[in-house]
Amino acid sequence: MAHRASSASKVCPACDGFASAAITSGGRDRHGHLRTITADCRACHGTGTVRRHSRAQEGARA
Ligand SMILES: [Zn+2]
Repeated sequence: MAHRASSASKVCPACDGFASAAITSGGRDRHGHLRTITADCRACHGTGTVRRHSRAQEGARA
């Protein structure tokens, strides 16, 4: 597979784009909500991409 995004922003190598993960602890609180812990990637701070160049092209999808 040789398709890589050649845009200004590139997928974070630390998390492969899965920058934010919701982890369920299995239980529900007394309000009935599912308990989740959100963990953000440290390398990209939850953005999923790393910027290599100063020109930002956010939201540009081919
Ligand atoms: Zn990341």
